[in-house]
Amino acid sequence: MNVVVMKFGGTSVEDPAAIGRTAALVAGRVAQGKSPVVVVSAMAKVTDQLLRAAEAAAQGDRAGALAISSRLRSRHRDTAAALIKNHADQVALVSLIDEKFDSLDEILRGLAAILELTPRISDLIASFGERLSSRIVTAAFREQGVDAAHADACEIIVTDSQFQKAIPQDDIIDKKAPEKLLPLLVEGKVPVMGGFIASNEAGLTTTLGRGGSDFTGALVGGALTAEAIEIWTDVDGIMTADPRVCPDALRVKVISFEEAAELAYFGAKVLHPATILPAVKKNIPVLVLNSRNAACEGTRIVSLAPHCKSPFKSIAVKKKLSIIDVVASRMLMTHGYLRQIFEVFDKHKCPVDMVSTSEVSVSLSVDSNNQLPLIAADLSKLADVKYEGKKALVCMVGEDIRGQSGIAAQVFNAIRHVNVRMISQGASEINMSFMIEEDDAEEAIRSLHAAFFQEPDAAVFDVEARSTVHSS
Ligand code: ADP
Ligand code: ASP
Ligand code: MG
Repeated sequence: MNVVVMKFGGTSVEDPAAIGRTAALVAGRVAQGKSPVVVVSAMAKVTDQLLRAAEAAAQGDRAGALAISSRLRSRHRDTAAALIKNHADQVALVSLIDEKFDSLDEILRGLAAILELTPRISDLIASFGERLSSRIVTAAFREQGVDAAHADACEIIVTDSQFQKAIPQDDIIDKKAPEKLLPLLVEGKVPVMGGFIASNEAGLTTTLGRGGSDFTGALVGGALTAEAIEIWTDVDGIMTADPRVCPDALRVKVISFEEAAELAYFGAKVLHPATILPAVKKNIPVLVLNSRNAACEGTRIVSLAPHCKSPFKSIAVKKKLSIIDVVASRMLMTHGYLRQIFEVFDKHKCPVDMVSTSEVSVSLSVDSNNQLPLIAADLSKLADVKYEGKKALVCMVGEDIRGQSGIAAQVFNAIRHVNVRMISQGASEINMSFMIEEDDAEEAIRSLHAAFFQEPDAAVFDVEARSTVHSS
């Protein structure tokens, strides 16, 4: 069986027209003799709105929370009504949508009474987006002649109990995915499941973290040893920079697993950072494709990418970071000092992105989070501490950067007008990163892009797209 996982992001299921395009793409794969398994995100912006409703309710704004829910109910009902012409099928789907919103409203009312939003309730509320979209997409596919069957993601993706960023239990998923999905595939059906949502072993709803539907796609692809994992989104593939920041960004035709993982981790939103791992384990190619421009071949992520003449493949930026400076003239270089510092971060379960040390200080960068005052208080038992937010980490990814002399000079020359706070090139051969002020980030990306993608290697980048745009 030629299993292909097709994951569709929020914009690919945002309205009836987008869902119609998605159905046609899946029908196309079926016509090629493939067996698709479809993973869908919530309709665009729905997760944000659900979380906003949760926060409003927890702050006692019951009416505000219910108003958001009511707008979402209308949007889902309208989408279902536009897609499903058969009266009985439409009534069945709309009543299923109403049932889900009735229980969401009940949770929101409860939250407005107890005024406390726990990570567990947050995940339960966020899960409604994918619970709804997967049902609507299944019905729409059937309407358009794709023999789809809904599969419950919470029965397949089993995680630990770290709500909001739960860790998948691979051994269980490797059993559950074939158990639930293969019988459908054998019958010639197309399973459709929600991404992002999961459950712990006790059956409580968890989520894989924001943007986690990509991860679901990869987990299912890995468990079924799919021949490809397709990530369908709203851009032509992985680009040389975020096209929203840098409009002349070019599509990267092929990139290695390692480079893509680095880009995803350091902020390229197009891919969830954990997506690559299940694919690497089984050497399954991952394709990033545009559901609005299916003719474009997208980006192929493979274990060994061809040699590239340009030093960098892409520039990513991760915002909302803080720098923590730990200064201790007495203790630096003494045995066990760094260990003590890292133990503090470990205790608060706070991952560190970047570390640099000098004679008397250690600087660390972390995601800005509300644990920082507690972390700083613990660190101040060891040394003087200060921390500062609104920082951005720029990460330039390309193969063998360390092996090329003069690259760092070119990078810092391109952004000589920007104040650089921390630099790291040592740890990875394929990543050069540095920390700047968040407000400087967009301009810095554009300057770097102009400096390094003047004459891109045509074997790796879609240079023709640039000449088409320029000549038109
Ligand atoms: P989806 O809802 O399909 O998962 P996302 O919004 O999560 O889509 O990711 C797609 C977005 O990622 C694009 O619209 C683009 O703005 C952003 N992005 C950031 N960096 C890159 C990059 N290097 N290449 C392509 N897109 C990027
Ligand atoms: N709907 C979820 C989110 O917005 C998951 C995803 O889209 O991948 O984060
Ligand atoms: Mg995404």
